[in-house]
Amino acid sequence: MPIRTEAAMNTVVTMHVLHGGAGGVQAAMDRAFGWFHEIEERCTRFDSSSELMRLTARAGEPAPASAILFEAVRFALLVAEESGGAFDPTIGRTMEARGFNLNHRTGKPVRDGGACEAGVCYKDVQLDRDRGTITLRRPLTLDLGAVAKGLAVDMASCELARFLDFAIDAGGDVYLGGSNEHGEPWRVGIRHPREQEAPIACLGVSNQAVCTSGDYERPIPCGVESSGGQHHILDPRTGASPGAVASATVIADGAMLADALATAAFVLGPQEGIRFLERMGVEGLIVTPELQRYETRGVPYAA
Ligand code: AMP
Ligand code: MG
Repeated sequence: MPIRTEAAMNTVVTMHVLHGGAGGVQAAMDRAFGWFHEIEERCTRFDSSSELMRLTARAGEPAPASAILFEAVRFALLVAEESGGAFDPTIGRTMEARGFNLNHRTGKPVRDGGACEAGVCYKDVQLDRDRGTITLRRPLTLDLGAVAKGLAVDMASCELARFLDFAIDAGGDVYLGGSNEHGEPWRVGIRHPREQEAPIACLGVSNQAVCTSGDYERPIPCGVESSGGQHHILDPRTGASPGAVASATVIADGAMLADALATAAFVLGPQEGIRFLERMGVEGLIVTPELQRYETRGVPYAA
């Protein structure tokens, strides 16, 4: 029963293939973990030599992008459009200004972020699919923190798909292929946003991703002045952390979709967030700081 754990994307990633007898599991796991490292290297804003930051340095002109970076940005812009700008990948400089500028490997500040120009938003990013270029129309820093991990989980699950029964756990983002060792849907606990021990809910899922955005994940660094909540999700319209949600969980066919929609629903708030998830055709559960629960109609609770 091959299980492997590695650190990547500022979290601990574990992959578990149930029937390791089939040949090639180790090589498939190598490739699956390889995606995490490659996507982190390309899409991080915490390294000035990443593809994303080289693009940032070329505002005003079309910059050629790898298929991976192009796809992550394309998808993030789609979610931005659908969420009316509650989700916005141009939030990088605002994140920096709020103190989220430390490289998680070195602990060092990554760059002296330029001020965020007023009114910068996702509409300032232009894609040219035929040429494979991305143009930043104004100086801005892209932040793919709400999609890159989901994309890595999706790429990794493609590598493991032929083993049918497998699990990928990357912090708040998981994907469960096939069935568990009892031949049943995998059981996934949703973390209680305020207590460590018992989960707040337990799901039964098969061939789906479950991603949670929680206000407990990355508290704002010490010494940073903050208004609003103290965490790593910001409302692009106010620059502050929304306080109406403690956690937002999305269950969807893919992890990039679930990852991004969970962040978007978090920003939209309990009622609007659930309406948004229903419109997007995914299932979701939103828990408020007072532990009130809001959910879509078909959340797959474990039997
Ligand atoms: P997640 O933990 O998946 O909810 O993603 C949170 C990360 O997404 C943060 O660490 C930021 O990198 C980024 N982020 C924060 N607020 C937003 C937003 N409103 N839209 C898009 N990305 C965001
Ligand atoms: Mg997310």
